[in-house]
Amino acid sequence: MSRLENFISRMTAQRDILDYVCPEVAKMEGLVLELGLGNGRTFHHLRERLPGRRIVVFDREVGAHASSIPEAENLVLGEIRETGRKFIGIEAALVHADIGTGYDDRDAVTATWLPDLIASLLRVGGFAVSGTPLDHPLLQRLAAPTSEPADRYFLCKRL
Ligand code: SAM
Repeated sequence: MSRLENFISRMTAQRDILDYVCPEVAKMEGLVLELGLGNGRTFHHLRERLPGRRIVVFDREVGAHASSIPEAENLVLGEIRETGRKFIGIEAALVHADIGTGYDDRDAVTATWLPDLIASLLRVGGFAVSGTPLDHPLLQRLAAPTSEPADRYFLCKRL
């Protein structure tokens, strides 16, 4: 599979999983946290799928398309490992983390802190959607609702 095909497959799984969880999230109280604004495509998607819901977005810097930049009060700049700590206990309904790099060694470092952080940000029953696996005793992996291969994008529920 070429990198282009792999990317399309990953984005298809990402879209399918977000579309699956958004109606569930709409029934719950709690913030939505977007870890990794990037171009802002998934932020834009979440804003469309969850109208009126507060979405707080994290990144090192703003590099998004002008149509997809959060309001200043919903934008948190800096290293997520640090900035995310201030939100511990916030009881978010959804955390979406798209901060994988495609480099195993770098993603292994992220895996040492991201699952713990996400578990501490979510309410019980809340959802984590992630581009990298989230191994944590309080994050139950669910079968991804997509026809793409299981390792493309990950869905967990907070126990
Ligand atoms: N989901 C986005 C979209 O649809 O456009 C793409 C996100 S992009 C793949 C990942 C983003 O996460 C980049 O903008 C990068 O700066 C940010 N990022 C990755 N790791 C980070 C970290 N540890 N702290 C802050 N930002 C981080």
